[in-house]
Amino acid sequence: MSEKQEKMRQCAEKLLRDGEAGYVIGWGETRFDDRTTPIFVEDPAGAGAFVWNEYAINSLAKYLLDDKYPDKKIGLFTRGCESRAINRLLKDNQIKRENVYLIGVPCDGKKSDRCTLCRERNPILYDVLLWTPEDDPPPAAGRFDRVKDIEAMSPDERYVYWGETYDSCIRCYACRNVCPACNCRECYADMSKTGFQGKQHSRSDNQIFGVTRAFHVGDRCIECGECERVCPMNLPIMGQTQKILKDINELTGEYECGMDATSENYLGRFDLDDKDEFM
Ligand code: SF4
Ligand code: SF4
Repeated sequence: MSEKQEKMRQCAEKLLRDGEAGYVIGWGETRFDDRTTPIFVEDPAGAGAFVWNEYAINSLAKYLLDDKYPDKKIGLFTRGCESRAINRLLKDNQIKRENVYLIGVPCDGKKSDRCTLCRERNPILYDVLLWTPEDDPPPAAGRFDRVKDIEAMSPDERYVYWGETYDSCIRCYACRNVCPACNCRECYADMSKTGFQGKQHSRSDNQIFGVTRAFHVGDRCIECGECERVCPMNLPIMGQTQKILKDINELTGEYECGMDATSENYLGRFDLDDKDEFM
């Protein structure tokens, strides 16, 4: 067993035994050697179920939304991507910092496409750090390569590209459900009377979903890649959100979302007086 995995198990066991956390969220084994699954451990004796290997891929932070008023703190193993997602949720007023105990686990890169462009492997937010972080990889030059490829197309070619892409969307909403930036309590896509997006499977309705999703999260996307990882149709939907991020970078300078919990968003403003009339 790896030393890091052992440290994780010991930390989780202590937190649970001392009553400092009601449960701890991490990764556990599946019956497949090349896959792990998020697990929730309440019993200190169960801490031995946590694993840390190259397949600990799922981003964990969004599970915090399933328990917004916990009796005790929720323990969460936290890498760079989880801490950026937590900043996202804190900034959107979706969770309270005092309700979570963040167990920092500097990441070594996992077997996932999304990790190849990762710029923050080390937690930027934590209550305890389980081992010494190594330097983050240098910023990946290819961050916006796919956007550049799409920008190089003519408007007609782009229309065909996105039209054909969204022809395959089955509107399962997995991309929305996994996304830490898609955290509205009620989603317009589940409403029946919005008037601008039907329930039928058609190119136009699928595209309305895609464009609305992209603008909703575009300036808040932490580039975790979860939306593409879970899409059962393998659709390249980060091409849309990254276009917005690329434009923001070009207009305002170097910019990444989720690096803090206080700075303002570029596109959206939350307003308590918004009556959500269309809902
Ligand atoms: S996960 Fe993929 S198929 Fe499902 S709604 Fe999102 S884009 Fe469409
Ligand atoms: S990469 Fe996808 S899942 Fe992650 S924050 Fe951006 S839109 Fe959401």
